[in-house]
Amino acid sequence: MSLHALETFIKELGENSYRAKQIYAGLYKDRFTNFDEFSTLPKTFRELLKEKAEILSIKLDKHLISKDGTQKMTFAVEEGKVIETVWIPTGDEERKTICISSQVGCTLSCAFCATGLLDFKGNLKVWQIVDQILQVEKIVGDRCTNIVFMGMGEPMHNYDSVIQSAHIFHDPQTWNLGAKRITISTAGVVTGIERFIKNKEPFNFAISLNHPNPVTRKTIMGIDEKYPLEVLLKSARDFTKTLGRRITFEYIMIPGVNMGKENALKLVKILRSVNCKINLIPLNTELHGWRKPNEDEIDTFRELLKSSKVPILNRRSPGKDINGACGMLAAVSY
Ligand code: SAH
Repeated sequence: MSLHALETFIKELGENSYRAKQIYAGLYKDRFTNFDEFSTLPKTFRELLKEKAEILSIKLDKHLISKDGTQKMTFAVEEGKVIETVWIPTGDEERKTICISSQVGCTLSCAFCATGLLDFKGNLKVWQIVDQILQVEKIVGDRCTNIVFMGMGEPMHNYDSVIQSAHIFHDPQTWNLGAKRITISTAGVVTGIERFIKNKEPFNFAISLNHPNPVTRKTIMGIDEKYPLEVLLKSARDFTKTLGRRITFEYIMIPGVNMGKENALKLVKILRSVNCKINLIPLNTELHGWRKPNEDEIDTFRELLKSSKVPILNRRSPGKDINGACGMLAAVSY
């Protein structure tokens, strides 16, 4: 619950709303998991809370540690519903990112992504999103500096819970993470982007572009049928104009699919038309007979993009040996 929702709940129980602040601090600062631990609350009130409320948690199922320091946790959120969350420390920058899931499986089936192979089993509730951070921080014994909604699922298909949980992470009384340290990513659900713009959400925003050609994009990302590239790019431009900030494009590099010279030239055109930066991600899985790009291919493609003058980032995609990198979250090995 947000503090506001908690205050309403506490008032309904006939208590003073300042108790809500104490509970909020107990949950997020002290990380209590049981009402008996809330020693600032009177015993009678703790008993009432036990009757009327529950502190729920997701259950750790598997924990894998990569040789590069990445850690992947598989959690059961409910019976038969499994998600994955990834802890990604980047030593040199002191950046510790947690990549969280927003859905159990995904309704999209992007051709390159392992999550798309799973059956969709539902949206995560706010507590199931927030508890991924609480659990991972407890397991690794550290706190994150950044959160990305880039795990399993399409965040814009679970809009309300994703945005509510992002606000909880942003709240000075909880994690106090700056809005620029929280990134929400979409495969291109334009109605979600429009809502985000309308509500002037402060968080970082990324679009998984992945192909600059409208015809070919449809063949690898089914979502493009519903929200074609042109419409998606228009909403990206609206984003930058209305919110006055840059948007991020993510681009998976797949040799033979989207790394040719003509692809680069088309992409440069797009990059020039939007206030953006681009994140290049080498393909991690070889699900469809596609292969990963080699260093030369990545350098050549990157060089071709330089004329766009937009910042080009190389996503390192750590955690490949534990199937913990981008597009590998399938809660099974394959
Ligand atoms: N559904 C949202 C959130 C998931 S983010 C979205 O698509 O943006 C996951 C990121 O990993 C996306 O940018 C996606 O394009 C990328 N990705 C998916 N499969 C991948 C793969 N096999 N190799 C590298 N990146 C991949």
